[in-house]
Amino acid sequence: MEINYEEIGLKVGLEIHQQLNTSAKLFCSCKPELFKEEPEITFLRKLRPTQSELGQIDPAAYFEFQKGVKILYEANTATSCLVEMDEEPPHPLNVEAVEIALTAALMMKAKAVDEIHVMRKTVIDGSNTTGFQRTCVIALNGVLKVREKIVSIEHVSLEEDAARKMGDEEGNTLRYRIDRLGIPLIEVATAPVINSPKEAEEVALVIGRILRATGKVRRGLGTIRQDINISIPNGALIEIKGLQELELLSLVVKYEVQRQLNLIKISEELKERRVKGEEIKEEFFDVTDVFKQTKCKVIRKALDKNQKVLAVKLPKFKGFLKRELTPNLRLGTEMADRARFWGRVGGIFHTDELPAYGITTEEAEELKEAAKAEEQDAIVFIADSPENDRDALKAVIERAREAIKGVPEETRAPNPDGTTRYMRPRPGAARMYPETDIPLTHITEDNIKKISSRLPELPEQKLGRLMKEYRLNQKLARQIIDSENSELFETIIKESSVSPTTVAAFLTETLRALKRDDVEVDKVSENQIREIFKSISAGKLTKEALWDVVVWLSQHEDKSVEEAINNLGLKIVSESELRTFIEKVIADNEKLIKERGESSFGILMGIVMKSMRGKIDVVLASKVLKEKLREFLN
Ligand SMILES: [Zn+2]
Repeated sequence: MEINYEEIGLKVGLEIHQQLNTSAKLFCSCKPELFKEEPEITFLRKLRPTQSELGQIDPAAYFEFQKGVKILYEANTATSCLVEMDEEPPHPLNVEAVEIALTAALMMKAKAVDEIHVMRKTVIDGSNTTGFQRTCVIALNGVLKVREKIVSIEHVSLEEDAARKMGDEEGNTLRYRIDRLGIPLIEVATAPVINSPKEAEEVALVIGRILRATGKVRRGLGTIRQDINISIPNGALIEIKGLQELELLSLVVKYEVQRQLNLIKISEELKERRVKGEEIKEEFFDVTDVFKQTKCKVIRKALDKNQKVLAVKLPKFKGFLKRELTPNLRLGTEMADRARFWGRVGGIFHTDELPAYGITTEEAEELKEAAKAEEQDAIVFIADSPENDRDALKAVIERAREAIKGVPEETRAPNPDGTTRYMRPRPGAARMYPETDIPLTHITEDNIKKISSRLPELPEQKLGRLMKEYRLNQKLARQIIDSENSELFETIIKESSVSPTTVAAFLTETLRALKRDDVEVDKVSENQIREIFKSISAGKLTKEALWDVVVWLSQHEDKSVEEAINNLGLKIVSESELRTFIEKVIADNEKLIKERGESSFGILMGIVMKSMRGKIDVVLASKVLKEKLREFLN
């Protein structure tokens, strides 16, 4: 179904977060880097709900607190100090980060604030040791031109990045690593003026180009994250948090519109069936006996642990739970996501999908009887501890009541296929309050003048320059600007003699192709890539071997290019060694050459390259072979 997005009144706003490449973190002098080794320090904290000034407590935070969730934080001394551990007040705001943010802001014609006030934003998931994230507005009211449209930028801010989650939850304990905590992030927020999925992607691309043009942003997966606010009339404002792949942005928006339209349709049909929220009762039926002999493995396992199967009835909901909202997502999936979050259960079963999972038609019939269900009703049931069962079923009931009203407001997280899943309820208002530990910073006219006088070239100017200076075609120049590697490109050109087109093609097309081949190119560092091209310049490596070297380096972290060359047996063969080798090939194939004369070249070249690929320059090999062949024939 083609959707006319203008017509349905789609409104999208973007918040783009990008890590800055500063030499220190935002509120301390620790290195803004991630570590791979085992942690030197660990400490355990209880998750506690932070009260805002007004004494409001976030319901999701309170819930987690009640469950006694604990967090094990991991750290090392190079990347964390007492500030990240919340044992010491934050240091003054990082001036370098402010300058980068101001640079980007001025490139978007935003107006700098006179005073920077650091605020605290409540964070409920343990990803900040303090229970809040520090954030401050740097500039307001910018504009961006995207095709013919003027997109207003509401604000440009600086934020501290959060700790990163390590592995899955074990029991009631979450594991976070605080190396990432405090890395400066720039946040660029657009007004909700974007009207189609494609436009959302274009705006994100233009903002990304400007941020990269500052030359001061980090590269690699996870260094850029986008939050997307999506609403349609009669739907709801949905926030999708933490999308890392720009390529998925338009698909995520498209699916969210589909999801909301389908939820609106379901709501209309439920109203036609005269379903009422208050008819969905918090009445839990113990249906454990129905499954005494069950072949369903999940239920069997629960029963073996002496757990219970509890059920609720959703009056007149039959058929709705299996309704598809987007590919791979049904109303039943949405209920299951809620159940997982609020009940910490593995999932739910419902009658719309029976018989399945080893549950028989007979069991389904018995279940209906036990839950006193009518033909038009749906039943949701869960096999876990009675406490979890009840919490999860309450969440299912709430989701069902919301389905009658339409689209519930919530925060969602992206899945790898472009669909989304429930993350948590949307936080209420008043979740920001002032950070009292940090003095305010003034931005003076002089600051602004100084930064304005040396703004980096805008992406469009750079495009022209790359084409002229390096004779790149437009497509390749555009790709370089849109990649994370335009700085790297110019660095490599300065320090190697490889042709700009070859370097540009490698940094864009080859890296993309490698990624498609599941090679983890992000594991190959900028320095290693520079080394590769220096080696080619120095005649130690051929262009043909680029691919193999990158693959090897991605599998052997922290090894050198020289080690790659040695291990892959790519040591370049000298010209005299090559001559000797070719003479031998000719001697070995005398008969063939006598028969075919000069036309034996192709076969001989094949033989030479079979042993020499990646070890010699192809042009040179072909030249020497031609020469030797002629000598022999004469
Ligand atoms: Zn620190």
